Amino acid sequence: MRLILLGAPGAGKGTVAKMLTAVDGSVQISTGDILRAAVKDGTELGRQAKAFMDAGDLVPDALIMGIMKERLKEDDCRAGFLLDGFPRTIPQAEQLKDLLKDLGIKLDAAVNLDVPRDVILDRLTTRRTCVDCGAIYNVKSAPPKVEGICDKCGGKVVQRDDETEEAISKRLDVYNEKTAPLVDFYKKEGLLLDVTATSSEAVVAAIRKRTGA
Ligand code: ADP
Ligand code: ZN
Repeated sequence: MRLILLGAPGAGKGTVAKMLTAVDGSVQISTGDILRAAVKDGTELGRQAKAFMDAGDLVPDALIMGIMKERLKEDDCRAGFLLDGFPRTIPQAEQLKDLLKDLGIKLDAAVNLDVPRDVILDRLTTRRTCVDCGAIYNVKSAPPKVEGICDKCGGKVVQRDDETEEAISKRLDVYNEKTAPLVDFYKKEGLLLDVTATSSEAVVAAIRKRTGA
């Protein structure tokens, strides 16, 4: 599958992407995970991105496009890819369109995960993430077996720096202003698949029906 996953923070893009990788070996590409790893490793990219991320702001388009131009050329993308958290702005979407054209790659769909705001807010304030492998937990619905410790790798499970109430509300505003317009962009491209289901299983089923995967 070659998909773009659109949807507000907390809509479930990461969870759905992880489930889809098991279907046909497509690789999940999360710009958020790439940036968090860069911050953790203290690279130049991480140094440039950190302040934007902690404030709930978007990282500049040029930095993101630099990452994605390299990432999409890697071998593991040949089996398919699930873009999770990219593109996030109209300029990113336009540049991605040119990039895919250059690489001779056609997208199957841009999936919009449409989830009500109250569900999103509840999910984000209860979400916890493994600092080492990125596994996602929820203190209410899916806690790790041992509090604060990742089931999969034993890493520390914490609340992200940008998941304070203030940063969450900022991220939702930024989403509505900068990213929501992409729904119309992909509708015009004839690629939009709107999914209103809230369970990840139902979302995956809708995507498989559309793509035949
Ligand atoms: P979520 O989807 O839960 O908001 P992500 O993990 O996708 O979180 O992203 C975390 C942060 O990383 C964003 O708030 C933003 O600062 C930065 N980021 C990730 N992807 C992009 C992107 N495509 N463009 C600009 N900034 C990005
Ligand atoms: Zn882990």
